[in-house]
Amino acid sequence: MAKSVAQLNLTESLVRGALQDTPGRVRCAICLARELYLLPGDIMPILTTLAERQPPFATGACGCGGAGLMFLLR
Ligand SMILES: [Zn+2]
Repeated sequence: MAKSVAQLNLTESLVRGALQDTPGRVRCAICLARELYLLPGDIMPILTTLAERQPPFATGACGCGGAGLMFLLR
């Protein structure tokens, strides 16, 4: 079943909030999923969308070695 737009928006705001709370720290979809109790498959497309909107987001390497995203320090 496809996710509703409301669910996607909620997930996106959770992901954006988590990144904004820790500016300068890169996290991948798997680490964010663990932190937010969500599925990596739900987070990956959101990270892709946010990466296209950079700045304020920037891609980088997560602490676990995966490709991730961070909120840029101002
Ligand atoms: Zn990671």
